[in-house]
Amino acid sequence: MFRKILIANRGEIALRIIWACRELGIKTVAIYSTADADSLHVRFADEEVCIGPPRNQDSYLNVSAVISAAEITDAEAVHPGYGFLAESAHFAEVCRECGLTFIGPEPDVIRKMGDKAVARSTMMEAGVPTIPGSEGILDGPEHAAEIAEKIGYPVLIKASAGGGGRGMRIANDADELERMYNAATAEAGAAFGNAEVYLEKYLKNPRHIEFQVLGDTHGNIVHLFERECSIQRRHQKLVEESPSVALDDDLRARMAEAAIKAARAVDYVNAGTIEFLLDEDKNFYFIEMNTRIQVEHPVTELVTGIDIIKEMVRVAAGEPISVTQDEIVSRGHAIECRVNAEHPETFVPSPGKITTFHSPGGPGIRIDTHCHGDATIPPFYDSMIAKVIAYGGTRGEAILRMRRAMESFVIEGIHTNVALQRKIVSDEDFVRGRMSTAFMERFLEKKG
Ligand code: ADP
Repeated sequence: MFRKILIANRGEIALRIIWACRELGIKTVAIYSTADADSLHVRFADEEVCIGPPRNQDSYLNVSAVISAAEITDAEAVHPGYGFLAESAHFAEVCRECGLTFIGPEPDVIRKMGDKAVARSTMMEAGVPTIPGSEGILDGPEHAAEIAEKIGYPVLIKASAGGGGRGMRIANDADELERMYNAATAEAGAAFGNAEVYLEKYLKNPRHIEFQVLGDTHGNIVHLFERECSIQRRHQKLVEESPSVALDDDLRARMAEAAIKAARAVDYVNAGTIEFLLDEDKNFYFIEMNTRIQVEHPVTELVTGIDIIKEMVRVAAGEPISVTQDEIVSRGHAIECRVNAEHPETFVPSPGKITTFHSPGGPGIRIDTHCHGDATIPPFYDSMIAKVIAYGGTRGEAILRMRRAMESFVIEGIHTNVALQRKIVSDEDFVRGRMSTAFMERFLEKKG
């Protein structure tokens, strides 16, 4: 097992990894930008290294600064968390060249799955269902039009290097296609430095259902059941839960089998997520694989009792996954709400100094956060500041606990979406489990 791990991240996930390492008896090294000098992950790590000024490029994305921090502190492994360098095949390679273990999959697997057009064709070859569309990247708007005619409108143009819902455009008919093609390539080029796009049929009111998988270096691959992440705004998840009310045992088993098949197709090692869309007729299709820990992993931890971060560390150290598929069972129900520092109506980020912070607790409530009553949210990073995860024996109990938690969550000094989240989990459609990725649009219209 490792003696010391460097955490190449900040915020709640850096703290989450510190807790797992403490329980495993592993020392931790925090890295931080000057904007995060007073952050809790710095305070709770065993050692800390300032790696630069606030801008991402100068600190958390600065590969040589991160590697130097690992070298001077004698760390043996690096946990990248999510975001930042977590899906950088280059970073994983540099770690390896410097004798550091990257806690994640092999660099070539990160590269393959990070290119969504390649991931799509890999899955087609492996026999995992994908959404009708182009076989690979598009040559130009005429190529897009040709495929769209064949499969029918509406279609979605998607960036190969995409992430966070960027570089994606819907074309409802042939007239819109060229404009949307150009918009998607331009946005992808600007955001990712790669303008390649592919095309999929645009599904109406799908559900987003993903499967957590874990692989080890001994050839074992298991799944930890599903998460439903249909409550999204602009393709960004807001509320996640496990299990999904949309799956019966048969569909769950078929989707789990496809998830394992997808992971096997790339000999997957470490924690990953296979994302599917489920259409209104309950057909499911692979959309992408995330080769890292996900924000929403706690809902899976609560229903399975498995600490996914610890499994990631163990697997990276060459140990087998601590449980077999037969031993993994899902019990009860868990729901996560992402608390963002943002204006509740305009959704504009709301950084600043927190003046009051009272987080909920009590039975069935888990809070993952780096915030406290004297914290300052810097303007440079993601606006997610806390995750509230509610567990109950039933979905109904989990909802009641979440509602109660959101009613007693007090954050002052900055704007947050706590009140909005409370309304979402009280919404009749949500309570009845009637949801799709179109939920938020309708919900916000209803609210006026
Ligand atoms: P990203 O990598 O940017 O997160 P994904 O491919 O994971 O992009 O898709 C994000 C979200 O966009 C999905 O959860 C879903 O809401 C929507 N989406 C993606 N592909 C389609 C599609 N073909 N039809 C309808 N919605 C889609």
